[in-house]
Amino acid sequence: MCAIVGGGLAGFCAYATLRKGGLEPAEIVVLGTDPDPAAVWRIRSAAIRQRRMRSESDGHCAPSSFPGLAVRAALRRRSAAPLVQSVCDRYHPSVDEFLEHLEELRAATRWDESFQRSRVDRVRAVDGGFEVDGHGVFPHVLLAPGHPGLAWPDELAADSRAVHAYEPHDFADTVEIVGAGMAAATEWLNALAAGASVVSVRRREPERRPLNLPRELFSRRGLAGYHRSVAAERIAILERYGAPSYPAGRAWDEPVESARRGGRFRVASELNGAPQVVCATGFKRGFRHNPLLARLVAEHGLETAGEWIVLTPDSTVGSLTDAERTLALAGAPAQWAFPAADTLVGAKYAARRFHRKVSAWRTR
Ligand SMILES: Cc1cc2nc3c(=O)[nH]c(=O)nc-3n(C[C@H](O)[C@H](O)[C@H](O)COP(=O)(O)OP(=O)(O)OC[C@H]3O[C@@H](n4cnc5c(N)ncnc54)[C@H](O)[C@@H]3O)c2cc1C
Repeated sequence: MCAIVGGGLAGFCAYATLRKGGLEPAEIVVLGTDPDPAAVWRIRSAAIRQRRMRSESDGHCAPSSFPGLAVRAALRRRSAAPLVQSVCDRYHPSVDEFLEHLEELRAATRWDESFQRSRVDRVRAVDGGFEVDGHGVFPHVLLAPGHPGLAWPDELAADSRAVHAYEPHDFADTVEIVGAGMAAATEWLNALAAGASVVSVRRREPERRPLNLPRELFSRRGLAGYHRSVAAERIAILERYGAPSYPAGRAWDEPVESARRGGRFRVASELNGAPQVVCATGFKRGFRHNPLLARLVAEHGLETAGEWIVLTPDSTVGSLTDAERTLALAGAPAQWAFPAADTLVGAKYAARRFHRKVSAWRTR
């Protein structure tokens, strides 16, 4: 009855939500490249040696935000500290806590019974739903293919000195780190801790904020304003907040300041021949880089704006969604509906709305 294309964290959030809503594993097909929902994320997070989540207590894959990972940590440690930190928006679960919770949820929801290893090349609207490659016709489909690949600066694409921050790597004695977002800031600290000298190559100063978007864009009110904006305004908002940012705080600033004083950290606007260049330049952006989405848009004449597929506020493709069928997007390609779509909270936003559509269809 339902197909989820893409078995990463966003696909898994949708699955867990459907299961909590009463669907059995036999009613959901998940088509993906790896049965571990964290397979892709794990590699990237390990590559930047991430130890704590940027997200807060609600940054997990369970269908309900509460109780979140702070409550779990408080019970386990028999301490109120995680709850107090959470109330002050200062609780960031460890990566291990997040992954352990994910593994438990994977078993409890019986994800592996629904998972089929398959890369989907084409999704096409037909009578009664959507034809998903050779897998049949489903009335409700959620596409969660993740980012379309790593972004490299053009001049470094074929340079043997270059590694991407999201791929496994060690550090040379001197390293130029391109970028100024969360991955870059994490890599400055990693390289300094490894004893390297760091040149931060950046063309603009990063914004400092705890989450990757301002908090109001996660709120009902902020989101309502976003949904009222016309296309040009919305593009401007997404472009503005797509710019690099990382959290404020001593833990980020002190190691850099101390290295700067010791001559081991400086900022430059251009590359200058270091033996290693780490590209903390994130991901390619936009549906045109994803063959499945580009084909979907071309074959169905879907409305687009800039690099985004235009979605309704409930994260569905309006022209292909009605009482009989649903085509939803989740994860990075769903930013038109929810600017922070590429977060765990964003994945849950799309998941809950997809479940509402499925549930309305089942109970009609
Ligand atoms: C290093 C790092 C740290 C992060 N930290 C946080 C954090 O602390 N908190 C937070 O909320 N968010 C965080 N994020 C953001 C977000 O949670 C991740 O980007 C998340 O992985 C998005 O999940 P996804 O399912 O959209 O994409 P992915 O996890 O990339 O999964 C997509 C899956 O779909 C598969 N796929 C793609 N195309 C097809 C196809 N055509 N057919 C079948 N399968 C396909 C892919 O192979 C992949 O398995 C972080 C991201 C990164 C990179």
